[in-house]
Amino acid sequence: MSKNASFEEIGEVLRQYDSFAVVSHVRPDGDAIGSILALGHALEGLGKKVRYLNEDGCPESLEFLPGSELVEVSSEAKDVEIEVAITLDTAAHTRVGESSLAAISGAKVLINIDHHISNPGYGDLNLIDDKSPATGQIIYDLLTALDLPISEISRDSIYVAVSTDTGSFQYPGTTQRTYEMAADLVARGLNVGEINSLTYDSQPYRKVELLRSLLNTLERSVDEKLVWWELHNETKERLGLIDDDTEGMIDFIRSVKGVVVAVFFEELDGGKIRVSMRSKDRRVNASEICGIFGGGGHALAAGIRMPGPIEDAREKVLAELRKTIEQL
Ligand code: AMP
Ligand code: MN
Ligand code: MN
Repeated sequence: MSKNASFEEIGEVLRQYDSFAVVSHVRPDGDAIGSILALGHALEGLGKKVRYLNEDGCPESLEFLPGSELVEVSSEAKDVEIEVAITLDTAAHTRVGESSLAAISGAKVLINIDHHISNPGYGDLNLIDDKSPATGQIIYDLLTALDLPISEISRDSIYVAVSTDTGSFQYPGTTQRTYEMAADLVARGLNVGEINSLTYDSQPYRKVELLRSLLNTLERSVDEKLVWWELHNETKERLGLIDDDTEGMIDFIRSVKGVVVAVFFEELDGGKIRVSMRSKDRRVNASEICGIFGGGGHALAAGIRMPGPIEDAREKVLAELRKTIEQL
């Protein structure tokens, strides 16, 4: 992995140039959208021109975030003339997506800010902190270190980025600094009750129907350490699901006592399979196991996009997991 840039080195580029694109990974989550909004709005506060891009745009569940209307679907973004592109929360260059990569291809400088251990450091400047539980927390560290403005949009976006990536400040990666950051955001006027209600208590009914159909596919290994379920195209069509509806679902089976690894297999248009993996034991490194199939992520949360059909993908991934779990 290439050497990390310092906050000051990144700050120099942010001050030196006038036009920026902030971009995050395909099928964005709260950390992906929250991080681009937080950093982008801070740059706007410095008087810079900013384009907010994502291959799939802003998911419906994050539209409550003020500023989310600024996020453009990359394939529809016109005249993206920018000097600097900043990828956020994006573990691999290709995870930016084809249209996003085309949109930022004219950038003179690429900055890569992320917290995934598997990130190879594909930027001209890289800031990869795998100890940070969310990219949003790195953005908070960057903005405060450089004394950049934290507007209400940046404040709320950072909170949602970190809250969603830490399972509401619960996962083991949550640090003292995370709570101190949250306290500071509250001191800056963040309304905790309101933002949590908008983030977690405003689900569409179809997500409950999705849960029902996932439960019908639920399976568990004999030793009870491995659980998995799957989502087929037919179910997606029947329930009228959108991509974002699967977000967070895996936590239901991850939370079961005795479970070491939970896996979610999903059919995608075009025949690929999306694999979402959660480990509860550091000895089973989800990022490494996903890496065997070209995916990546974190030690305890990782993913893959791999060839189908779903039965083949499932058997290959479960076989690797069984091998690792047997050695515990
Ligand atoms: P997910 O299961 O989609 O919530 O993803 C879990 C974590 O792994 C997230 O931090 C993702 O950014 C990362 N991740 C998911 N899929 C991939 C992939 N194909 N390559 C690299 N990282 C991934
Ligand atoms: Mn993410
Ligand atoms: Mn993240």
